[in-house]
Amino acid sequence: MKIMKFGGTSVGSPDRMRALIPLINDPEPKIVVLSAMSGTTNSLVEISNLLYEDKQEAASSANELLRTKYHKVVDELYSTEELRKEGHELIDAHFNLIKGFTNHSFTKLQEREILAQGELLSTALFHNLLREKKIRSVLLPALSFMRIDKDGEPDNFYIEENLRRELEKCPDENIIITQGFICRNAYGEIDNLKRGGSDFTASIIGAAIRAGEIQIWTDINGFHNNDPRFVENTSVIRELSFDEAAELAYFGAKILHPASVNPAREKNIPVRLKNTMEPEDQGTLLTAECKLEDYKAVAAKDGISVFRIHSARMLMAYGFLRKVFEIFEAYKTPIDMITTSEVSVSLTIDNSQYINEIAKELRELGTVEIEQNQSIICVVGDFRTDRTGSAPEIFEALNMIPLKMISYGGSPYSLSLLIDTSNKVEALRQLSKHLFSK
Ligand code: ADP
Ligand code: ASP
Ligand code: MG
Repeated sequence: MKIMKFGGTSVGSPDRMRALIPLINDPEPKIVVLSAMSGTTNSLVEISNLLYEDKQEAASSANELLRTKYHKVVDELYSTEELRKEGHELIDAHFNLIKGFTNHSFTKLQEREILAQGELLSTALFHNLLREKKIRSVLLPALSFMRIDKDGEPDNFYIEENLRRELEKCPDENIIITQGFICRNAYGEIDNLKRGGSDFTASIIGAAIRAGEIQIWTDINGFHNNDPRFVENTSVIRELSFDEAAELAYFGAKILHPASVNPAREKNIPVRLKNTMEPEDQGTLLTAECKLEDYKAVAAKDGISVFRIHSARMLMAYGFLRKVFEIFEAYKTPIDMITTSEVSVSLTIDNSQYINEIAKELRELGTVEIEQNQSIICVVGDFRTDRTGSAPEIFEALNMIPLKMISYGGSPYSLSLLIDTSNKVEALRQLSKHLFSK
């Protein structure tokens, strides 16, 4: 069995949805994971934000605007009156539910329920499209098997057991459609796998059923060697190792959700990144095999804050770093980069929710400086510590850009640097010019 995940643009219009049919309509059994139509989750986030701000009217008109868009999709998607009628009823059911939330004080739980509507809609619309075309498929609700534990991690045992039970109910079906992104949490409530989480869904399902391959279909021919949103003339990488891809995804390559490589890597299931607009292109293949090259790719992650802790107590002392780490641990805030000197340590985080609380506690250990609006640039290549000659091109490329931190030796595949976000685009362009233009 294989997993085929189609992202927002791949289901972004009636034409795009119809274009998926030839890709999935063959005898090979598959689980088709769909995202919300592009733009939908953003609109749902906007509606939720308006509700938090108690802007009921604005929330209501944003909801009606989205409802109208979906009614148009239904009109264009189906050719029979019967399916159109069903589609319009379906749309109204979902948008009436959102409308219901505009009447009382708004909670986190309601927000998550609103965010779930995008994937519930896209999968129901697509399933009905296949029904109209007389193509057999099953709509399997992700909420019946996808679950995270109280730390927000996939509850693999629960997922495997429940998915197996659900699949046993339809042994002869070869197209099983399910929602990306959405799940239940440890309390049984509706939750999600964070923005871009449909990739993670595909990988978790792939690992749970030991799929032959996990395919991530998107709007580009695979993993590029730099971020095509900021740099021209990027090129596709045909093969990457799980470790390299995970590093790039974690450090900002939007093509993959940061955690999505892990489940596939753990069960050694190949992941193929493909373009729905150019299905004949081979895309990028991720496997356990790593063919090191000097430089393979660059990615950047924004929204980073850096703490600089300076303390004479650190000098020759043991246990100092433990105290620092414990503070971050208490606030469930992961540290990305770290560098130390004799009497100071610098650390970066990307979740600034508890930045003030953390700073307050750190001040008991020494003086603390905080800088926000930072970006981590991650270069993936051959950074084994027993070789020479790697890296001068990086420093040449970034000659004119102030470097705030450098992390080398932590991984044989990557070198990371911290810079001001205002310098990010220039840094990415210079890196492409110096590392990949030969
Ligand atoms: P989907 O909606 O299919 O999940 P995303 O928008 O999440 O698609 O991811 C695909 C986009 O990721 C591409 O259109 C591209 O702009 C962006 N992207 C950023 N970095 C890279 C990269 N290194 N390689 C390919 N695409 C990238
Ligand atoms: N629809 C969700 C989002 O926009 C999940 C996804 O597309 O992967 O973040
Ligand atoms: Mg995505």
